[in-house]
Amino acid sequence: CKTDATTNDKKPNQLTHRVMVGNVPLGGGAPVVVQSMLNAPANDVDANLAQIRELAAAGCEVVRMAIPRRDCLDAFQSVCEQSPLPVVADVHFDAQIAVEAARRGAAKLRINPGNIGGLAKTDAVLDAAGEAGIPIRIGVNAGSLDQDLAARRDLTLPQKLAASAAGYVEYCEGRGFHDLVVSAKAHDVMTTVRTYRQLSRDLPHIPLHIGITEAGTQFQGVIKSASGLGILLEEGIGDTMRISLTDDPVVEMRACWALLSALDLRRRGPEIISCPTCGRCQVNLIELAKQVESNLMSTTKPIKVAVMGCVVNGPGEARDADIGVACGAGVGVVFKHGEVQRKVEEHAIVDVLMEEIGKL
Ligand code: SF4
Repeated sequence: CKTDATTNDKKPNQLTHRVMVGNVPLGGGAPVVVQSMLNAPANDVDANLAQIRELAAAGCEVVRMAIPRRDCLDAFQSVCEQSPLPVVADVHFDAQIAVEAARRGAAKLRINPGNIGGLAKTDAVLDAAGEAGIPIRIGVNAGSLDQDLAARRDLTLPQKLAASAAGYVEYCEGRGFHDLVVSAKAHDVMTTVRTYRQLSRDLPHIPLHIGITEAGTQFQGVIKSASGLGILLEEGIGDTMRISLTDDPVVEMRACWALLSALDLRRRGPEIISCPTCGRCQVNLIELAKQVESNLMSTTKPIKVAVMGCVVNGPGEARDADIGVACGAGVGVVFKHGEVQRKVEEHAIVDVLMEEIGKL
């Protein structure tokens, strides 16, 4: 069992087999890989490359691209050839597309054996991936469970999903293919958590791609994803993650990195420590904090910036941060590495904070 993180300091994901997605290590104790999926039209090379560059700048490490039809394979190949990030081919229904994608530069394949045409069709995909030296993610979900498994009343849905994935893994390994990653996502948070716990017990050697699927628009999607993935990551479950949002994929990146930072697993970009404000606050702190956040959007330095409303908690938090401001009546006292720098008028606070951050 690899899930008992409370009694075993060794995190479970250190125990999995490691695969390489292009030049990105996944599993075997590697840092949790952050990924997203392109949503530009599948045959528009320039639009996909532009989105990849935007995602890379936001901290994305692996991108996935859908190949919905065979006539999109040329575009997929061009994207792979020019992409700064490894590109995963996302294929449903047509095994021949997956075979071709492996030959045309995919860094990994994502298939669902439940809809790719049965195990016989999977064989050709395994052979193509083996020849290309790339891993395959097996992604199962409740909608495409084997009928026999779906009908069983002695198993819960998480147990069925995990059993389905385990069956495919056994088949692939039986054919000598071992570079596997597994996902079994659901839109329901606790179903997903229980499924991944089961997977982590049943397939301790397989790297897991975790996520809450169809999590919704930004607000709900981030909360559902953070609660589910937060539980799993804290238990050491999960080697690569996607936060799926009905939004710009760049927002997914911000959410992923904020979650990894909050869990102290990986850090990228600033953390803003700001108070909720109350009746003691005598500046427009909400606006100040939003401006600081917006100005730091493209910063990759993992710095802590405190933006605090008054003397109750302000000086303490501002001192503990790399840069901070504790506000009073229309003014702010700026701190840097615990030392007071200067007192500034409210209108100048953001500029002074940015100036000091620039000097770090
Ligand atoms: Fe209120 Fe001051 Fe606390 Fe902010 S720091 S919530 S203004 S008491």
